[in-house]
Order: sequence, then C-alpha cells, then structure tokens
Amino acid sequence: MDLLIDVNVALDVCAQRKPHAATSMLAIEAAKAGAARLWLYAGSTQTLEYNLYQHLKRIHQPAPNGPSNKSLLGKARSVLSEFVKDKQWLAALAAEGPVFDAGDPEDEQLLRALDRFPAGSIKLLTRDSLLLEKHPDKTITPADYCRLGLKKQPLQFIDLKAQQDAIRPQLEQRIHRVIHHGQYIMGPEVKELEDKLAAYTGAKHCITVASGTEALLISLMALGIGPGDEVITTPFTFAATAEVIVLLGATPVYVDIEPDTCNINVALIEAKITPRTRAIMPVSLYGQVADMDEINAIAARHGNIPVIEDAAQSFGATYKGRKSCNLSTIGCTSFFPSKPLGCYGDGGAIFTNDDALATACREIRVHGQSARYTHTRVGVGGRMDTLQCAVVLAKLERFEWELQRRGAIGTRYAELLAGSRIELLTVRPDRDCVWAQFTVFVDERASVQAALQERGVPTAVHYPTPLHHQPAYAQHCCPGCCENCIRAAARVMSLPMSADLTAADQGRVVAALQAAVG
Ligand SMILES: *Cc1c(COP(=O)(O)O)cnc(C)c1O
Repeated sequence: MDLLIDVNVALDVCAQRKPHAATSMLAIEAAKAGAARLWLYAGSTQTLEYNLYQHLKRIHQPAPNGPSNKSLLGKARSVLSEFVKDKQWLAALAAEGPVFDAGDPEDEQLLRALDRFPAGSIKLLTRDSLLLEKHPDKTITPADYCRLGLKKQPLQFIDLKAQQDAIRPQLEQRIHRVIHHGQYIMGPEVKELEDKLAAYTGAKHCITVASGTEALLISLMALGIGPGDEVITTPFTFAATAEVIVLLGATPVYVDIEPDTCNINVALIEAKITPRTRAIMPVSLYGQVADMDEINAIAARHGNIPVIEDAAQSFGATYKGRKSCNLSTIGCTSFFPSKPLGCYGDGGAIFTNDDALATACREIRVHGQSARYTHTRVGVGGRMDTLQCAVVLAKLERFEWELQRRGAIGTRYAELLAGSRIELLTVRPDRDCVWAQFTVFVDERASVQAALQERGVPTAVHYPTPLHHQPAYAQHCCPGCCENCIRAAARVMSLPMSADLTAADQGRVVAALQAAVG
C-alpha cells in the first residue's frame, strides 16, 4: 500500500519531534522496504516550510544569542530538501482548489487527492485524530502502518510504474502544456518528436502514426501493394504483421525462422520470390534486428524489392553500428505502452530515406490529402495525437539509460541461467538486442509457467500460435513450411523485463525458474 504523507508526519521526521519522530521514521522506512510509493502533496510545500521554520524558531530563539531568522529559514529549507529527495510529488489539481467550505480546507485537499488512486491502493499517513476518526478507510497512523508488517509487492512483468516515478516532472509538464496550448492533433510535439526520432535513427524522415499496425499498413499502401501481390514475411510474430498484408488483399508468403534467434531465415527467402513479390517484411523479434544486409542484398538482386522492417519491438537496437528502423526501404515501430519506447495509449512511427515514400506516407496518414480537402489518394485516419507524442518525448530523455539497463539485465539473465536447463536466445555478435521481451526456450512450458506463477513471477508467451496456423489466416497456410517456427512456438517463454527491474527481483525470477526446472 502506498502512502500520502501528511504534514504532521513529515514534520515529526524533519523536526525530530519527540515522541513521534521514531515511529514516523519507522513507518516511512517500512514503506520503502516494501517498495511502496511515498507521496508528498505539492500543495503542502509552503505549510511544511512555514511549520518547520516556526518550530525551529520556538526551539532556538529563546536563547539570547540564538541563530537569526534567516539562518533558521535556511536550515528548514535544507532539511526539507533532503527529506523530499526519495518521495514522489503529488501535483495539486484544479478539483482540489475550491475547498473553502470544508471544515479544514487542507485536509479536504488531501482527501480529494486520494480519490485519484484506485480504491485501497493508498492511505494518508497521519496523526490527525479528527481525520483518522472520520476517514478510517483512507487514513492510517505511523504506528498502525508499522504493525501491518512487510508485504512483498507482486513482481511486475513490465514495471511501467517505476518508469513513471522517474519521469513524473517532465511527463506532467509535457502533458499539461498540450492541454493548455490545445493543438491536440498535429500540435508542435508531433514535429518535435518526429525530428528527434529521425535524428536518433539517422533516417531522413520520421512520420508518426496512430499505432505500429497503422505504420505497417500505411507503408504497404505507400508502396501501392494490393490484390494479387505477395509479401514475404515470418509467421512467428504478432498478428499485425500479416494482418495488414491481408487487409490490402495481398498474400503473406511465410518463410521459416532460425531456431536460435527466432528471426526470419534469410537462406530460405530467395526460393519464395515470384514475379508477384512486392515486398519483404522481416520482423526484428524480441528486439534483435534480423539479417537486414543479406535481405537487402536479395531484394536488390530481384529488381529492388522494397524491404520493410517491422521494428515494433526493436526501436533503439543497433545492427552493425546502425539503428533499427533505418536499415531498409522503410522501418516501422510501435509505441504501444509495453514496447521498449512506449506511450500511454497507441502510437507508432514510419522511417524512410526516400522522399517520395515519405510524402506518400504523410498524405495517407491524413486521408490521402495533398492539400486541405484535396484527396489525391485513398488514405486512412492514421495520425498519432499530440498528447501521445508528448508522453514519448518525456520518456525519450532517459531512453539511452533504459537501453543500457535492458542490455545489462539481459546479460545478467544469461549469466545467471548459464548451465541451467533453460535455453537462451542467441544474439548475433554484430548487433544487440533491446529485449522487448526477455524470451527463453523451455520444455513443458505450461507447468513451468504455473510453478513460476505460484512464486509470484509472471511470464508470457510470444507467441503460442504461428500466424499460418491462426484461424483467420488459415487460407495462407503452407503445410510443412515453417517447422522451426512451430517448435519455437511450443517452447518460448518470456520473463519479466524492464529497465527498472531490480537485481533483487531478477534474483527472485531466476531462483523461481531454477526451482521450477530442477
Ligand atoms: C506490437 C507489434 C505490432 C503492432 O503494434 P501496435 O502499436 O500494437 O499496433 C506489430 N508488429 C509487431 C512485431 C509487434 O510486436
């Protein structure tokens, strides 16, 4: 359970007020040990400062040569600066302003602020007897909190909360700016993000779109792909990869994967090329880029077939010193919340160095408009909204740090699991993996997953059924064509992974896994 710290408890600690300081500090330490969030109401900062200053004056100024007001105020501020360091600021919202008809406006603000959180997930840590009596469901004393004892937080499969804690100031600032400038569609954040992502990948153009799926769809439309056309791809991917091909009336032609990377097996591509082949669409699965140079070379040999990288899982990954999304004709990524770079809704982006394709994608994104109300082609409503761009911009500030963490956590998984009965994915030496999922191979997967679940370790399967075996895509099934893919689908299992996964939690995952596989 998270805690919102009331002013009286904060003052206990900051002023070392006896006899309460010890218990209040214990409660705060217990919350930290249990990985609970400690919130301070931003609207209480002046009350905190004023009360601590007055307290210091009461203690020190009866002495004839006591410290000056200025030095006491300085002391109050430095104590508070230290105290707030490991706390989260809870912003004051407009709904918490008109409280003057309440018995105690300041208490009313805190109670209203609590209503933003899911019921039961947070309490006000206070010694205010009136509040405790009137709102027993929303409040708790430091002494009672200490008596609750330590409850381990369940492990998250992807810890987006810790990420949010780390970026809250810039996140709130960016979101509120959009709310105030009011350009919800194609606002300044859209261009800012496109410029930053283009610079990051090195691609000449970045076009943000409504989702990763939309990025793939718009790319295929920009290439003019339609009925009768064939697109070579892998069946070991999320449904969206094949979905967009089928939606346009084209045919997905499946090529099997390499058993050790789960990416498309380049050696099998050429045999599937026909005069109707209009694109090759490899997927950079789990965050590792496929053999793009070899794929590009095959495409070039067969009359410059366009190559679209489905980089929904690999934004930020490096391949021979170049960035994913800028390795072929077009790169497409997704900002779905759980992807390596996610927003708080749907979003995606298209990358290309081809000016004509970029123009086509930009027009298709807004109903094929080349000028206002001039529709020179058939398009879609496929824009990414300004608020979502603002969220990605806030996350981009620590993205490089996150990639380093993901890399380090991946390496540590590999070290800890070496010699166990868990088989690891191979990462080729000329590239890295951003570990959109940390996926391993395991036998008797269902029972291993159940054993892990029992120990509070969540897992997932990416993906249990290859696309050519999915009911909706059965007509494109190629019996016997993708045996490695079928074997992988039965054995892959993804473990918790995020930049904020702690060493202790990773240890919990590995211990549970080792216990489960013997
Ligand atoms: C997530 C994903 C997509 C689709 O992205 P959305 O933003 O969810 O539409 C496409 N391909 C792959 C490989 C994905 O992992």
